[in-house]
Amino acid sequence: MSCRNTIEEISSYLNGELDPELKRTIEAHLKMCHNCRVVLDTTRKTIELYCDGKLFPLPDVVRSRLHEALERKWQGKKQ
Ligand SMILES: [Zn+2]
Repeated sequence: MSCRNTIEEISSYLNGELDPELKRTIEAHLKMCHNCRVVLDTTRKTIELYCDGKLFPLPDVVRSRLHEALERKWQGKKQ
């Protein structure tokens, strides 16, 4: 499981839409990966902010902004 794949599934994970096997894979990755835990926290907070504590899928615009921010972060690290 890569960080990229984990992040792709995070909104489904928060919504409980994942099958149990994929959910376990993601939880295992989150245990090892600080980066993805930060993304999970941020995503959860964003969802709560937008949806008053109810879990809904991330709006596409938020999702793409999040991805862009992460792309920049990862690209910055490589330099
Ligand atoms: Zn990760």
